[in-house]
Amino acid sequence: MVNGLSVDVEDWFQVGAFEKVIARGDWDDLALRVEDNVLRILDLFAEAEVKATFFTLGWVAERNGALMRRIVDAGHELASHGYDHARVFTFDRKQFADDIRRARETLEDAGGVAVTGYRAPSFSIDQRTPWAYLELAEQGYAYSSSVAPIVHDHYGWREAPRFAFHPLAGADLVEIPVTTATFAGKRLAAGGGGFFRVLPYAFSRWAIRQVNRRDGRPAVFYFHPWEIDPDQPRVPGAPLKSRLRHYTNLERMAPKLRDLVREFAWGRMDEIAQREAARVVPLAA
Ligand SMILES: [Zn+2]
Repeated sequence: MVNGLSVDVEDWFQVGAFEKVIARGDWDDLALRVEDNVLRILDLFAEAEVKATFFTLGWVAERNGALMRRIVDAGHELASHGYDHARVFTFDRKQFADDIRRARETLEDAGGVAVTGYRAPSFSIDQRTPWAYLELAEQGYAYSSSVAPIVHDHYGWREAPRFAFHPLAGADLVEIPVTTATFAGKRLAAGGGGFFRVLPYAFSRWAIRQVNRRDGRPAVFYFHPWEIDPDQPRVPGAPLKSRLRHYTNLERMAPKLRDLVREFAWGRMDEIAQREAARVVPLAA
């Protein structure tokens, strides 16, 4: 079973948790660390001989053209994470259309490849954004991996299917939600990010095995470049809960990732999407 491996490429100051303490207008004055961190990730993936998808902000691609080509040359997929991490439910359809078009043009110019995959910032496609899939389909995207089918304080679309679905009748677009495991009838977030960093590795192993063996489906895992960077600047004034979530176990992340990429089989999200698309039915016909 080949699972989907993904990196959401954004810098340490672009995370949703800090948006109230770091103004969008100050981004250009802050030290960029994303390039060094992505290079370390590329080395880690090369050592383990795995390919992955890098969902990258247009803002980052604009400033790191050489890095985009390194990602592509190493055989990974370059895909879109929107232009500057504004969440989909803060847009109307026209603003969303402009955001994903701008991000894609920037990524395609920088990487020299076609971009066919999209991941919404902070998994922000949910029941509030029924037009998002229409727009993605219209702009020719093959797949989206933008839904967290759980309840969470910052995001989540609780009623969404746990596995790949066609969000639009009559369109090929496929949505591949981030992985959840189930325990005692409840869905647990098990697809990466802070959960992977904070909980013991054994939890992720159990969850991925459950999804692969019991559900017979690929897992979809994600993490961020800043999560392997213990030396990143600390953001003063951020809420305690955000700081705890952001800074816990950063120094243990790289070795943990090494275990994860070696223990399971991993591939690019566009390949997972193709395989999954063959077996799914429309959400609502
Ligand atoms: Zn993100």
